[in-house]
Amino acid sequence: MTRDEIIAQLAVTDPAALFARADQVRRENVGDAVHLRGLIEFSNVCGRDCLYCGLRRSNKAVERYRMGVEEILSSARQAAELGYKSVVMQSGESCQYSVADMCRLVSRIKKDLDLAVTLSIGEKSREEYAALKAAGADRFLLRFETSSPKLFGALKPDSSYEDRLRCLGWLRELGFQVGSGIMVGLPGQSLAMIADDILLMQKLELDMIGIGPFIPNPLTPLATAQGGTLDLTLRALAVIRIVTKNTHIPATTAMGSIDPAGRQKALKCGANVLMPNVTPTRYRAQYQLYPGKICLEDKPGDCFLCISGMLTSLGRTIATDPGHSFKLKAKTDSPD
Ligand code: SAH
Repeated sequence: MTRDEIIAQLAVTDPAALFARADQVRRENVGDAVHLRGLIEFSNVCGRDCLYCGLRRSNKAVERYRMGVEEILSSARQAAELGYKSVVMQSGESCQYSVADMCRLVSRIKKDLDLAVTLSIGEKSREEYAALKAAGADRFLLRFETSSPKLFGALKPDSSYEDRLRCLGWLRELGFQVGSGIMVGLPGQSLAMIADDILLMQKLELDMIGIGPFIPNPLTPLATAQGGTLDLTLRALAVIRIVTKNTHIPATTAMGSIDPAGRQKALKCGANVLMPNVTPTRYRAQYQLYPGKICLEDKPGDCFLCISGMLTSLGRTIATDPGHSFKLKAKTDSPD
């Protein structure tokens, strides 16, 4: 799709045909099985001050926590016991774990539990990424948030767009399966910018793409901003599926938080991944990037039951493999 065609699809009067096509492309390229990644939100300590995020360091209303190494391991073990084949370890940025500790943790999860490990811990040096890869980390999620350097600069005053993209390049060179993505409905974001975001995702040949609606957080400077809609987020998701074909795309928690059926709708227009929360219940209320986050009172097992019920009612199955990149597989399978 060209930039103009993408913009037209994002603005189409009735998205039913777009969604049906995305669902078909999803079925043909990644099948009916949905991959479950257990999400461990292991620390909300953050050194950055992103205007949209409830974990920003200027937000003094949040009680900060850091799970200990043994506690994180026990959450990963619970994920394995629930049958998940991979865990996503997410936190604020520069949250005070040494790289050596992170490496030990990753290698123990790999050795003891044999799970695929995805990290979502923000920008690090190339050396730190290399150490984490050597310790066994398989994947890394780092959203570029928006491809407009100007909007990026306005929303992330203490980060640089160039640095973020450089990190994505390093992760790729080091052999990580790489995920990135955006928020939809950021203040000042146009449909043309979202089209450019999608073209950048295509250019980066991402293995995983995560998007969600921007949900204004009352504890941030964007408290009174408008926020994104599920409708536009689903349109973007559908276009992303159509143009990137075999990418892993989650039905994200933010989608489920602005609409109780948000994740089901996403699974019907291109998504093939879910990230059930396995964070211990006592920490969940403190990990609120945005208000209205679902599953705050739930235990890991509750999230499994909810999600398996959701998939059964949609006629989808739970994948039994670790769900590595389809692109990786295509590269290894190809004769050249
Ligand atoms: N600190 C890490 C990862 C944690 S945040 C990093 O920067 O990579 C994970 C994602 O949540 C962010 O990339 C952002 O896209 C999203 N997010 C943050 N605040 C949000 C909000 N108010 N509404 C919706 N999504 C938000």
